[in-house]
Amino acid sequence: MSNLRFKALETLSFKDFRKDNAIEVPAKLSELFCQNVFSEETMRSYLTKEAFTSIQNAIKKGTKIQRDVADQIAVAMKDWALSKGVTHYTHWFQPLTGTTAEKHDSFFTPFESDRAIERFSGGMLIQQEPDASSFPNGGIRNTFEARGYTAWDPTSPAFILGTTLCIPSIFISYTGETLDYKAPLLRALSALDDAATEICKAYFDKNVTKVTPTLGWEQEYFLVDSALYQSRPDLVITGKTLLGHSPAKGQQLDDHYFGSIPTRVMNFMKELEIKCMHLGIPVTTRHNEVAPNQFELAPMFEEVNVAVDHNSLLMDLMARVAHKHHFHILFHEKPFAGVNGSGKHNNWSLATDTGENLLSPGKNPKKNLQFLTFFVNTLKAVHDYADLLRASIASASNDYRLGANEAPPAIISAFIGSQLFGVLEELEKVTDGKLSPEEKTELKLNVVGKIPEILLDNTDRNRTSPFAFTGNKFEIRAVGSSANCAEVMTVMNAIAAKQLRDFKKEVDALIESGLKKDEAIFNVLREYIKDSKNIMFEGDGYSDDWAKEAAKRGLKNLKTTPEALKQELDKKFIALYEDLGIYTHREIEARNEIKLEKYSTVVSIEAKVLADIARNHIIPCALNYQNRLIDNVRGLKDIFGEKEFKSLAKEQMSMIVEISGHISVMKVEVENLLAAIKKAKAITDSQKMAEAFCNDVRPLFDKIRKASDSLEMLVDDELWPMTKYRELLFTR
Ligand code: ADP
Ligand code: MG
Repeated sequence: MSNLRFKALETLSFKDFRKDNAIEVPAKLSELFCQNVFSEETMRSYLTKEAFTSIQNAIKKGTKIQRDVADQIAVAMKDWALSKGVTHYTHWFQPLTGTTAEKHDSFFTPFESDRAIERFSGGMLIQQEPDASSFPNGGIRNTFEARGYTAWDPTSPAFILGTTLCIPSIFISYTGETLDYKAPLLRALSALDDAATEICKAYFDKNVTKVTPTLGWEQEYFLVDSALYQSRPDLVITGKTLLGHSPAKGQQLDDHYFGSIPTRVMNFMKELEIKCMHLGIPVTTRHNEVAPNQFELAPMFEEVNVAVDHNSLLMDLMARVAHKHHFHILFHEKPFAGVNGSGKHNNWSLATDTGENLLSPGKNPKKNLQFLTFFVNTLKAVHDYADLLRASIASASNDYRLGANEAPPAIISAFIGSQLFGVLEELEKVTDGKLSPEEKTELKLNVVGKIPEILLDNTDRNRTSPFAFTGNKFEIRAVGSSANCAEVMTVMNAIAAKQLRDFKKEVDALIESGLKKDEAIFNVLREYIKDSKNIMFEGDGYSDDWAKEAAKRGLKNLKTTPEALKQELDKKFIALYEDLGIYTHREIEARNEIKLEKYSTVVSIEAKVLADIARNHIIPCALNYQNRLIDNVRGLKDIFGEKEFKSLAKEQMSMIVEISGHISVMKVEVENLLAAIKKAKAITDSQKMAEAFCNDVRPLFDKIRKASDSLEMLVDDELWPMTKYRELLFTR
């Protein structure tokens, strides 16, 4: 092992990856944009007018594509793909494993005995059958022996990866249960569209026929040299370091943030951006993040479904491109203790097909009332379904990050900025029932009318809130960097849809009872503001005071994944999903089960890797060094007299004792750890098993780590087997 560490370091100093992998970027990236995408423009040139209209209607209005038209589209896709050297096609989907999946089939089709053609039909485009048995399904498959199939999602464009045509798809069982991230997301988006469009049409603008939620994610990640990465079994197997003393220079100096990007990293970024352009992923910003070797990439926002696909595709691309530049990319939320972790902010808003952002204040009181309607309804949705939102971002890896003084706490609160907070306080005073003409004028001129069109400057200051309004969108900041955005987006859009539906009913009831439209809206908003006030928080979300204050307000602080996931089976949440037709009761249970199982598996793997490293790498190394010290003490005793020896060997003796102390802690705690894993694994109930891993297994990690990190400080650097933090974090 010590060999591996030093070999890795040696490899590094001999190679100059900076020069080897220099990347030339064309002057105009825009010319590369969407070259490998079956885009609207490509469709226009490859499809008949009828087929083009049909697919555009499917994309924009959700209408069905007839089978003969699907055949035409398939042929066009194939011709386009062949012209680009493509040989295979695959339905590209996002199973609940958290990565993307593909099963490649060739266009090549033999017929007669010695002839063959390239064939692709509407049927092949629409449906494919991967073997569902190896994907997580939470028992659905076992109970019903359902096979799964993938089905084309025409609303996300097909693209070429290498020599394969990838067709974005959903993944469902033959009994109709969804087995992936995309299918429920599409249902949530459609529910949101229905609810929001109805409100726009009825109260604000009858020309609106579609509302599309938008998403702009910001992807954080770490890059580690491949050779160094390979030298750390914990990184390789668990994606994070389980041991390692913080380096003398961490991020205290903050000199990495927005600093210049190292050349080798720059080459990686350039190549990645070129690939993103080809695939139509509109990446626009890149920069260093707070921690050393941590970076961020963000695109222009897109409609949620496409943005989610693009994020999944990007993560896959990043890993491949990093490899070429002798890096390994870490998406783990907390790969290194003591430095910042990685998140994936999800910026969310609502766009109408008339070109408006519903979460953007407008030029006149009417537009502002529309803005306030969607704004307040969003806050109410987050208030009412905070636990569900919390559960949607829960994972074993995100537990390490949330609340760890650089990321939002697990308490769901909303930051809206003092200006809007003031507006809401005014609205809270609106009279119950009919409003006087004076009050109406006052509201119009001085409350709703006073919301400036651009709020960006005064709302974007608070970075400690998990849910922040940033001028024309909400930013969900607690999402983990390794997560699939679909999960949180399904919840966000579902809860907003449910809330908007309720709102419409309440406003209509008031209108029915004789109130004018605006009066009715004000009346309902007033109540919502009162209801949601306790999640609004403008202070420092990282502080202990907030945790105390939040507890007083009755807000939950679900610190761990098992606690958060337990909430998902609440009757209220099941009703929400069933009402909106997003999940059936059984699907909710199955998904909850999958997540619990995943949690237990992850913790169990980490525990075993830690036990292995402690026993087989750290303890032997510590003993080795201790023996050297013992030899040294013996030698001193041989050479010097009793009195002189005692004073000369004092430090060595105390080190020998200290090392023994740490070794014995490690040994005992590793045994406790293995016993705790065994006990947890014997539990049959998934919730209880996850709780056991969380409460009985995980806390032992810290004890073992502490002893190991202390040994790292004592033992000769030459002997230490694990590549050190300073090497992992500062080598570029
Ligand atoms: P930050 O200050 O949080 O680092 P950035 O400027 O890096 O902000 O990112 C802002 C993100 O918000 C980008 O990904 C951008 O695409 C996204 N965004 C901007 N407008 C919208 C919108 N209307 N809907 C969704 N996302 C948006
Ligand atoms: Mg952000």
